Amino acid sequence: MAIGRGTRRVACAIWVTMDRAQVALVRCTTYRQRELTPAVHRACDLLGGLEKHLRPTDRVLVKVNHLSPPSPPERAIVTHPEFTRAVLEHIMEITPHVAFGDDVQGEGDPFAVSGYRKLASELGAQLINFKEHGFHEIDCSGQVLDKLFVARDILEADVVVNLPKLKTHSLTTLTGAVKNLYGTIPAGHRSHCHGRFSKPEEFAQALVDIYAAVPPTIQLMDAVKGMEGEGPAGGQPRDIGYIVAGFDGVAVDAIAARLIGLDPQDIGMISAAHWRGVGVGDTDDIDLVGDTLEDAVVPGFQLPSAATTRYLRRVPAPIARLFTGQLSPRPTIHTARCVGCAACANICPTGAAAMHQGKAHIARRRCIRCMCCHEVCRYDAVLLQRPPHGRALHRILQAARRGLSTL
Ligand code: SF4
Ligand code: SF4
Repeated sequence: MAIGRGTRRVACAIWVTMDRAQVALVRCTTYRQRELTPAVHRACDLLGGLEKHLRPTDRVLVKVNHLSPPSPPERAIVTHPEFTRAVLEHIMEITPHVAFGDDVQGEGDPFAVSGYRKLASELGAQLINFKEHGFHEIDCSGQVLDKLFVARDILEADVVVNLPKLKTHSLTTLTGAVKNLYGTIPAGHRSHCHGRFSKPEEFAQALVDIYAAVPPTIQLMDAVKGMEGEGPAGGQPRDIGYIVAGFDGVAVDAIAARLIGLDPQDIGMISAAHWRGVGVGDTDDIDLVGDTLEDAVVPGFQLPSAATTRYLRRVPAPIARLFTGQLSPRPTIHTARCVGCAACANICPTGAAAMHQGKAHIARRRCIRCMCCHEVCRYDAVLLQRPPHGRALHRILQAARRGLSTL
């Protein structure tokens, strides 16, 4: 099939040129279809209705967040399959040409563990692992990336629907709509990007480049149950109780950040996308429809360790430099838990994580703290730790978070 990227419709561009974005916030507390299906319909209707953006002949690709290694939906690591079901069924009322998936690594059938294989067979929809159909190089002309390899399934779709999960992220603080597009490039390139853009602000620009190159038509974020703590895989599930939807993924992420008590401008990719005009990251410029944000904010949401270093941007540079080393968490191997699967060593972009006598070890000097090893270890054997002074400072900053965010 020919790469049909030029024909794909992108609704968010309209909103960006208008300098305002619209986001729908809809209460939904359970993955039971009785509540979920009406909530998904309401979110779409508040944005004008899916039928305005989909034609019966459209080929739709639904991009879920299906992190490797595979995990059951109760752990809140993947977009919940029941959430995906509700969206797929709504799309299938308009067009039968629907596929869904992600680029997933691992042996066996990773989609079996998450429930996605079962969902595909029940719905009769095509479930795709992007790596099976390959990737195609495109010009990107971004801030830090000139060219990109993107999943053919994404490029060949007329409409891409993005289904991110609201989770914390130990490198980017938040993972949402923009970050979910990182899964459209090959796994090897993702690892390479971490090595090439080792500074968080550079990595944020790379994420924005990828999002800007292949922006989805619409995003529906699964924030029914999210993840707090050391996401995107090592945190704890947390009830949030909402769906966040919009055409502009940056605006969706900005509202999601507010939901968990963060200032969107503290999130590198939101701030970079906003200032580059890729999307609207300032909530003053977002027209929120549906439920009110003030009532929705989750109290005491546990942020990842990385989040506290963001607050150092607000203090003079010499003081920030003094504390950054103490506050930044480092990956450390819990030797007793390590089963020697080598997943961390295989993904490490610098060779800092390596195997020795059947166990993983991390060479601190070579580690750029990309947290890929933490993300892929399915045995919780990669811990994120900081020195004792850093731990104390982290606790103080966490406690003062709400006050600091208003400075
Ligand atoms: S630390 Fe985790 S990913 Fe690395 S070898 Fe051990 S079990 Fe595997
Ligand atoms: S050891 Fe882990 S955090 Fe450090 S560079 Fe390798 S994958 Fe990244």
